[in-house]
Amino acid sequence: MEPYQPELFDTEALRREAVAAKPWHGAPLAYTTDYYSPEDLTAAFERFVAERGNFGCIPRSHMWHLPPDVRTMEEGPRPLVEWNEHEMWLFSADCRCEKTDHAHAEGEIPAALMHQAICPGCGWHAIDSSDTRVAQAWHDHAMPGWRDLPIVPIEISRIVDDRKRRLKLQAWLMTHYPAAWQRPGSPITTFVAADTRSILPHPYQGHSFARRA
Ligand SMILES: [Zn+2]
Ligand SMILES: [Zn+2]
Repeated sequence: MEPYQPELFDTEALRREAVAAKPWHGAPLAYTTDYYSPEDLTAAFERFVAERGNFGCIPRSHMWHLPPDVRTMEEGPRPLVEWNEHEMWLFSADCRCEKTDHAHAEGEIPAALMHQAICPGCGWHAIDSSDTRVAQAWHDHAMPGWRDLPIVPIEISRIVDDRKRRLKLQAWLMTHYPAAWQRPGSPITTFVAADTRSILPHPYQGHSFARRA
């Protein structure tokens, strides 16, 4: 009687083994704080998934990856903001390790949900546990002076009707924003209170920051 060899029929396992057998010279297949381009980080994450499978790949690998809504866009991954020669890419890495099948050296990973902003044209990046702080750091890098822009008054955030609020915001920006900042990618900062929407939809497709009133 032939010995039963279920692994021979497990094409998924065979495919992963074939991938794992190929040498990998890209970004580390683990958490890293070194600079890598969005392409390199995405290729490394895809390699991990091809080798180990999709299940639990984000918490198991602790690797940098794009948010799903950016990663699965039909036209491929894209930066969240573009400004002159600068691009803002935001990655996250889940380092809150709860796995019992692997261990880490002391201080190897930061034990938090980490965020990274990358400007590939400049080879610039910033890493922090706060997604707001990395986005602010990117704006400091790419848009000097953005912190001096006026803050959208809380009365506009309080408008419930989406269309009315958008029209009011556009009118306010046209009156209060310098002309050079009235273009795609320009950020807004909004005063928010507990009873208002925290983030306003952005009329210029830039980043929306929220500040407590
Ligand atoms: Zn840059
Ligand atoms: Zn871990």
